[in-house]
Amino acid sequence: MEKSRALFTRAEKVIPGGVNSPVRAFRSVGGNPRFITRAKGSRLWDADGKEYIDYVGSWGPMILGHNDERILEAVSKAACDGLSFGAPTEREVLVAELMTSMVPGLEMVRMVNSGTEAVMSAVRLARGYTGKDKVIKFAGCYHGHSDSMLVKAGSGVMTQGVPDSLGVPAAAAKDTLTAVYNDADSVEMLLRENRGQIAAVIVEPVAANMGVITPKEGFLQKLRRLCDENGALLIFDEVITGFRLCKGGAQEFYGVKADLCTYGKIIGGGMPVGAYGGRKEIMNWIAPSGQVYQAGTLSGNPVAMAAGLAQLTVLNEDPSVYERINHLGELFACGMKELIEKYRAPLTVTGVGSLRCVFFTSDTVENYEDAKKSDTALFARYFNKMLEKGFYFAPSQFEAAFFSAAHTEADIRATLAAADETFAEIMI
Ligand SMILES: *Cc1c(COP(=O)(O)O)cnc(C)c1O
Repeated sequence: MEKSRALFTRAEKVIPGGVNSPVRAFRSVGGNPRFITRAKGSRLWDADGKEYIDYVGSWGPMILGHNDERILEAVSKAACDGLSFGAPTEREVLVAELMTSMVPGLEMVRMVNSGTEAVMSAVRLARGYTGKDKVIKFAGCYHGHSDSMLVKAGSGVMTQGVPDSLGVPAAAAKDTLTAVYNDADSVEMLLRENRGQIAAVIVEPVAANMGVITPKEGFLQKLRRLCDENGALLIFDEVITGFRLCKGGAQEFYGVKADLCTYGKIIGGGMPVGAYGGRKEIMNWIAPSGQVYQAGTLSGNPVAMAAGLAQLTVLNEDPSVYERINHLGELFACGMKELIEKYRAPLTVTGVGSLRCVFFTSDTVENYEDAKKSDTALFARYFNKMLEKGFYFAPSQFEAAFFSAAHTEADIRATLAAADETFAEIMI
């Protein structure tokens, strides 16, 4: 840990909190973040040379595992031809053609540089298209850090937007209304009280930023119906679920069509990429075809497009990737459930496919309030013991474990054996 510790000490002097994204600082689990030097397949190595089996996968993008040869080769070739032109390239067309062929109902996409930017732009488009200002989101759903999305409004359905962060103007937050995840009635109530004023309902179809919470049977369908009845657009934030649940993401997986979708993470193959898309009729409202302005100097960057294209091509052509990652996720979830029974531990395993979570509460977790009941101190002990044993999970209770095609059954078995040992140590 010496080198990581020394690097963090230096980092704290010149980077706020020592990191370029808050969760990386390990604040909620204590201890020193590991500085990573290299990764391959399911493994990470830190600055002190310690090896880990990684379940963060750069927070989702590395669905094929780290440093996949096919992506590396595509990136290297593209880089040799030039890093950026600020003019259109063929790869942008190829990525858009591939994405629209893989996702049902997705007719057009616009590339941006992050998930935050994708959501910010999709919300602007929804407002421009509908001519309405208010947006409904769900407590505990994360949609990036743009002003209007940094609102979770802790205390119940009826709360008007209260910002989560200093610096978000009350005026920006007031048009963001907050509903309860998995509770369509809470949405119906907000729609009724703000009749004719709602531009969009935005949801993570599988919530994966308050731990992992799956949608209850009929929840997403009911949102679809409520949006149709009220002239609001339904936005699926598929920055995590897109191209992960299956080729067509949550829309295909749950059989519900959204009007607009946002993407990020996987579509960049590890490079900074986001995208938003939907029906032509709506997407044509974006400049230069329409009056909703959105632009980006580095959007559709040739090297980033090469990475995304290579990764999406594998996902499109090799169905065994989804079989494999879903199987590994299932193996992990079943193994954890057995351990929870063995130790009579007050824990709950949630998730679907290659997105899983172990909540440190024995209650059912269906929304943000449920998730917050977790014993985060116990989680922190579990996390740190697993890290010491060489298993790198997200340093927060409220994040997902990501499974990649580079993980093996042996990796999962080793992880479960370490969890068994850890439970023996921490569950008195
Ligand atoms: C990660 C994430 C974002 C933000 O993406 P960035 O690339 O970090 O800006 C938005 N929505 C969801 C659902 C995410 O998981």
